[in-house]
Amino acid sequence: MANPMKSNEPFDLRLPTPGCYLDPEKAGMDSDAVFQGMTAHLFYTLGKLATSASPHDLYMALSYAVKDRLMTRYLASQEVIRKKPQKTVAYLSAEFLIGPQLSNNLLNLGITQEAEDALKRFGIESLSTILEVEEEPGLGNGGLGRLAACYMESLASLQVPAVGYGIRYEFGIFNQLIRDGWQVEVTDKWLKGGWPWELPQPDESCFVGFGGRTESYRDDKGNYRSRWIPSEHAIGVPHDVPVLGYRVNTCDRLRLWRADATESFDFYAFNIGDYYGAVEEKVASETLSKVLYPNDGTDEGRRLRLKQQHFFVSCSLQDMLRSLEKRSIPITEFPKHWTVQLNDTHPAIAVAELMRLLIDQYQIGWEKAWNITTSSVAYTNHTLLPEALEKWDLGLFNDLLPRHLEIIYEINWRFLQQLRLRYPGDDKILQKLSIIDEEGFKSVRMAHLATIGAHHINGVAALHSDLIKRQLMPEFAALWPEKFTNVTNGVTPRRWVALSNPSLSNLLEEEVGPNWITNMELLKKLEEKKDDNNFLEKFEETKLNGKRKLSSFVHSKTGILVDPSSLFDVQVKRIHQYKRQHLNALQIIAQYLRIKNGTNKFEVPRTIIFGGKAAPGYFMAKLMIRFINGIADVVNSDPDMDGLLRVVFLPDYNVKLGEIVYPATDLSEQISTAGKEASGTGNMKFAMNGALTIGTLDGANVELRDLVKKENFFLFGKTESEIMDLKNNNYSPKTFINQCPELKEVLRLIEIGHFSNGDKELFKPLLNSLTGHDPFFVMADFEDYLNKQDVVSECWNNKKAWNKMALLNTARSGYFSSDRSIREYCESIWKVSPMPVEITCDVEELTN
Ligand SMILES: *Cc1c(COP(=O)(O)O)cnc(C)c1O
Repeated sequence: MANPMKSNEPFDLRLPTPGCYLDPEKAGMDSDAVFQGMTAHLFYTLGKLATSASPHDLYMALSYAVKDRLMTRYLASQEVIRKKPQKTVAYLSAEFLIGPQLSNNLLNLGITQEAEDALKRFGIESLSTILEVEEEPGLGNGGLGRLAACYMESLASLQVPAVGYGIRYEFGIFNQLIRDGWQVEVTDKWLKGGWPWELPQPDESCFVGFGGRTESYRDDKGNYRSRWIPSEHAIGVPHDVPVLGYRVNTCDRLRLWRADATESFDFYAFNIGDYYGAVEEKVASETLSKVLYPNDGTDEGRRLRLKQQHFFVSCSLQDMLRSLEKRSIPITEFPKHWTVQLNDTHPAIAVAELMRLLIDQYQIGWEKAWNITTSSVAYTNHTLLPEALEKWDLGLFNDLLPRHLEIIYEINWRFLQQLRLRYPGDDKILQKLSIIDEEGFKSVRMAHLATIGAHHINGVAALHSDLIKRQLMPEFAALWPEKFTNVTNGVTPRRWVALSNPSLSNLLEEEVGPNWITNMELLKKLEEKKDDNNFLEKFEETKLNGKRKLSSFVHSKTGILVDPSSLFDVQVKRIHQYKRQHLNALQIIAQYLRIKNGTNKFEVPRTIIFGGKAAPGYFMAKLMIRFINGIADVVNSDPDMDGLLRVVFLPDYNVKLGEIVYPATDLSEQISTAGKEASGTGNMKFAMNGALTIGTLDGANVELRDLVKKENFFLFGKTESEIMDLKNNNYSPKTFINQCPELKEVLRLIEIGHFSNGDKELFKPLLNSLTGHDPFFVMADFEDYLNKQDVVSECWNNKKAWNKMALLNTARSGYFSSDRSIREYCESIWKVSPMPVEITCDVEELTN
C-alpha cells in the first residue's frame, strides 16, 4: 500500500488516514475480524502459536486487537482538535484508579459478544476466564483516584475533548494479604506480565528541573529578571492510555508520565573512578515515578512526594503550552484552549509552575501571566480533615523549588496587599489567609495557593461545599463568594452497573430500553413497578445472581462458606477511623451477644463483609483490621452462630473486587462521623445497584437520602452540628457508655480478650481511644446505630417491602451518574462544550 505522506497523488480517503483504516484485522468489528486480529497478534506481537496460547496470551492478544480498534477513534479525536482548535479539559490528578481495561473497552466499543465468539474459536468458553487474568493498575488509593477515572470515562462518553494528566507509578497501591488477622503489604508489580493498554511516546518527553538556585539578570530590554538554575533534572516520558467513550468515536487520552534519568551515566564522575556516584543521579531520578504513596487522605509531607507532584505538573503544563505552539496559537490564548482542573491540592504547584513558565520561559509580564493562570486553573477540594491539608516545610520547598518559592512570595505579597486594603489593620486575617504559615515550622499551605490561583473552588457534595464555606475557608468565601461552588461527585454507570451487574442491566434494558446507560434519569420509569410483585421478584433475582457470584468468590479467597440468601451487609472502603469500621465491628459483637444470650429479636441471617486497605503507617487502622478478623474468627467458629451470623474480611479491596461486591450488596454501610466524609462514591455505586443504605447525614448520603426519600434510607446518628456541639461541650464518651448496658457489655468482652484468644493487651489501644477521647464519636452514635440495625432486620423479614425500597434506590439514584457531574463542571466551571468526532470513512462499510 502506498504511503500517502510520500505520494504526490491526490489524498485518497481509502488510504490509512486517521479515522480510516482499511485492514479488517485491525478495524473490523465482527467476530471474524476480532479472531483474525487476535491470531495475528498471537503470532507476530507475542510470538506464540494459537495452539499453545495460555489464557494470559489470549488476554494479551485480545487486548491488542481491541487497542487496534481504539486507535482509529483515538487518532481521529486528536485530529479534530488539531484541525479545529477548541477548549480541552486538562484533568490533573496524582491518582487515576482506572481498573481493568479490557471489559470496559469491549463494552464501550460494543463488541463484547464478538470477543466472546472469537474466544470460543480458541477453545475458551467464557469471556470471564480471560477477563480474570487482567492485572489492574493500582495507580490510586481509593475514592479520589477512582473519581478521576470515572470522570475521564464520562468526559469521553460526553464527547468532550480532555486529557488526564498523572504519574505512571511503576508500583501502585500495595497488594494486601491477611496473615494471622493482620494486614501485610506486598509490592504491586502490575507491569510484570506486560500491560498492553499504553502507548509510550518518548518523542514527546519533557525536561523537569529540581533544586539549585535562582539568579537575577538583565534582559535585552534592560529589565531585571530572575532565572532558575536547577541542580538536577529528570525527563518525563509520556505513556498514553486511550479512554474511549461509550458508543461514540471520542477517544480521549490519559497521559501518564514516567521519570527517566537525563543521562544514563555521569561520564565525568565515571572517568574519575566514582562508579556509584555516576549512577546515583540515574537512580535518584528514576525513583521519582517508582511508587505511589499509599496514604489515603493523610499528608506525608515527604520530599519525594513534592518532587513527584512538581514532576508531573511541570511535564503536563509544558505539554499544554507546546500544543499551542504546535498549532501556532499565541501563548496568551492559553485559557481559550485549556482549562486546568486540580484534583485536590496534589497538583496545586501548577499555579506557581504555570506562572514560572509564562514569565521565565515565554517572557510574559506578571499581570498578564497572572490573568492567564487564574482564568485557566480551578481547584477541587476533597477534605476538611486538618491532617490531610498539604503543607510543605519552607526549607524543603526552597531546597527543591527555589524559583517557585520566589513566585509564591510574590503571589502572596500581592494578595496580602489586597487584604490590607480591605481589612485595614487586621493582622489576624492576614496571618490566617497567607499562603505561608508563619507559626512553628514555617510552611507553604497548598490549599491557599490553589484557592488564590483558581477561578473556582468546588467541594464534592452539597454538605461538604457548605462546610468549606462555613468552616474551612470562611474568610476566602467572604472575599470571593463567586469562586465557591459545589459539584457533587458521581460514578460511571458503564463500569458500575452495565459491566459489573449484567443481570440487573438486562432487566433495566427490558424495562426502560438501552438508553439508561447514558441517561440514568430514565430509570425513574421503574417507579411504576414498585408494587408489581412479578417485577419485584425479577429484581430480587438479579440481586441473588450477584450474591451467588460473591459467595463463591468469598469461598475461594477465604474458605468461608456464606449463604447467598442471607442479608449481605457490606462495608468496603479504605480503613480509617473517621469511616468507623470499628462502629460496625462493635455492632457485630452486640448481635453476637444477643444470639448467645437468646435475646435476639429477629432471626435474620446476616453476612457482614468488610474490605479495604489501611495505610501502612496508620497503626489504628491496621489494628481495626486485626480487630475485625478477631471477631470473625470467634463468630465463624461458634456453632451457635450457624445460619445467623457470618463475618468476612475480604483481602485486597480494589476496583476488580468492587465490581463483584457492589452488585451483591443488600445493605450499604455509610457510617462516617457526620462532617468528615467529603462525599463518598461507594454509597452511590451501592444505591444504583439496589442496596439500601444505613448511614449518617454525611457527604453525599444527605443528597442520596433526599433523592430516594427518607423512608427508603436507614438514617442514624448525630448530625454535623450536633457533633460540633458535643465537641465544644467537653464530649465524654463515658456518658454514652454508661447509658447503654449493651455497649458496656460489648466493651467488657473485648477487654477480657474474648476476640484475641485471651490477650488483654492486643486491642487496648482501640479500647483506650474509644473510651478516652473517642475522636470520631463512635460511642455517641452506637446506640442509635444498633437500634437502626434492628429496623433493618425487621424490614428484611418483609421481603416484598425490602425489594420495593431497593428498587426505588436504583430508580432514583440516576443523579449520581458521573455524566451529570461532568456536565456541571463543563457548564459552570470549565465552559467547554462537546465536540463530536466524525470518522472520515466508514470502517464497517469498508470491511464488510
Ligand atoms: C468507589 C471506590 C472507593 C471509594 O469508596 P468510598 O466508600 O466512597 O470510600 C474506594 N476504592 C475503590 C476500589 C472503589 O471502587
